[in-house]
Amino acid sequence: MTRRIAIYPGSFDPVTMGHIDIMKRALGIVDQLIVAVAKSKNKNPLFECDTRVTLIQQAFQDDRMKVVSFDGLLVRFVREQGAHIVIRGLRAVSDFEHEFKMAVANGKLDKSVETLFLMASESHQFTSSQIVREIASLGGTVEEFVPQSVVKAFEDMGHSSS
Ligand code: ADP
Repeated sequence: MTRRIAIYPGSFDPVTMGHIDIMKRALGIVDQLIVAVAKSKNKNPLFECDTRVTLIQQAFQDDRMKVVSFDGLLVRFVREQGAHIVIRGLRAVSDFEHEFKMAVANGKLDKSVETLFLMASESHQFTSSQIVREIASLGGTVEEFVPQSVVKAFEDMGHSSS
């Protein structure tokens, strides 16, 4: 039987409990999950790409999951990894239009690539990396939204929570 290999791409700047929830649920569906951390230079990320990879690895590990960084066209990376499935998370209405456009574009670039959307769980509907960065930069506590590795990373940056 062919192994189902899926790519979960994103900026993960930083990883949140919402992302980890999607990783765990994806592992219930596929045989191998490759979390692909996009360098996203154009988004001017807060954390270096290597740090974003490490923060995920510190937060959650599974024998069937690996975390790598990538740059360039997603469908090319998917092909290089021998995968056909792209996992994306979908929160309420906010993500739909952007995610839909990307899935259609990727499908046009490579017909064999299928995007699989997992709905954000109720408790993580409003969790986003952007909100977490904002709260942390204002000195608020982010413990509810992110793993301990990320709380520590913010503290190391001088964003102490109250
Ligand atoms: P990108 O910059 O590619 O949008 P993100 O790191 O923001 O990367 O998100 C990666 C994927 O995870 C996207 O599909 C996004 O919709 C999804 N995601 C982000 N936060 C959550 C959450 N709280 N629950 C479920 N999915 C989420």
